[in-house]
Amino acid sequence: MLVIMRTDASEEEIQGVLSRLKEADLEGHLSAGEERTVIGAVGRVVDPDMRTAVGTMPGVDQVVPISRPYKLSGREFKPDDTVIDVGGVRIGDGNVVVMAGPCSIEDEDHMVSTAKAVKAAGAHIIRGGAFKPRSSPYSFRGLGEEGLKHLATAREETGLPVITEVMSIADVETVARYSDILQIGARNMQNFNLLDEVGLVRKPAMLKRGLSGTIEEWLLAAEYIMAKGNHEVILCERGIRTFETATRNTLDLAAVALVKRMSHLPVISDPSHGTGRWQLVEPMSKASVAVGADGLMIEVHPSPDHALSDGAQSLTFENFEKLMRTLETVGAAVGRPLAPRPGELAAV
Ligand code: PEP
Ligand code: MN
Repeated sequence: MLVIMRTDASEEEIQGVLSRLKEADLEGHLSAGEERTVIGAVGRVVDPDMRTAVGTMPGVDQVVPISRPYKLSGREFKPDDTVIDVGGVRIGDGNVVVMAGPCSIEDEDHMVSTAKAVKAAGAHIIRGGAFKPRSSPYSFRGLGEEGLKHLATAREETGLPVITEVMSIADVETVARYSDILQIGARNMQNFNLLDEVGLVRKPAMLKRGLSGTIEEWLLAAEYIMAKGNHEVILCERGIRTFETATRNTLDLAAVALVKRMSHLPVISDPSHGTGRWQLVEPMSKASVAVGADGLMIEVHPSPDHALSDGAQSLTFENFEKLMRTLETVGAAVGRPLAPRPGELAAV
């Protein structure tokens, strides 16, 4: 249920509701909006009598049951967009944030030179995989912690925040030590124990949509992370598996537009994995921005034909630079300009 506080509710009255919920074994999640505070009460079962009881407490305006299975991630709980600040980069505030870098971190020079190139072209956040989920056990599976060190070097050299995937519970602490955002890959969208663990971390998490995840399952997966206390969740549409084989996946841009309505969480689009073809990255990036994505995740490689993973969908430095220039124009045309970078002033 949602406990909607009166606009003039005092801090003491808010605390009163929180402790009453605790008594009833319900967890209270606070959403302090511009106009009023809403408390999401989450637990296995909410007794209807409890709804009446809380409804009579001082400072409470009304209590409404949440009709949807996802609660904390839904707009009912929090009507305002969630904005996540990652080292000065604001994700979800109406501007477009670009995360870019190689699929896999191959060595230090490869990671650092790619990070510098994408920074020069205007990227906001550096990506690179150290723990790689691969369909075949014989494919390159990443450098592990050594890769994370190269990513940390890239972070130092560029001053930009970094994102990388965490695949297992055992690595959550290590990845959180090196990375500014924890990426949960498509194949782990419903790895509920991993979601729980990432929910305990106090760093933003980016949750990719599963290969066959419905929108409701995706939001429920976000709910796992949020229910553990980590409300800084970014959603990422990276294409779903359909009957079509001409593209690697089907980038579901209707899902981006729909999830923006259903949820207050920022939504990123990944046209690299969403199409599997570098030639389609620019058109689908433009489309993503136009439908309201809060940002893009783009794979870039100094020499895509030598990439240890996902070369076919990786842009060269030159093509990435061209994409960024195009996004400036398209972003401005649809009212979603590229976000300023830390230390840079917003365009006026
Ligand atoms: C990736 O970002 O490199 C990746 C493995 O993505 P996904 O989980 O979407 O396949
Ligand atoms: Mn990849």
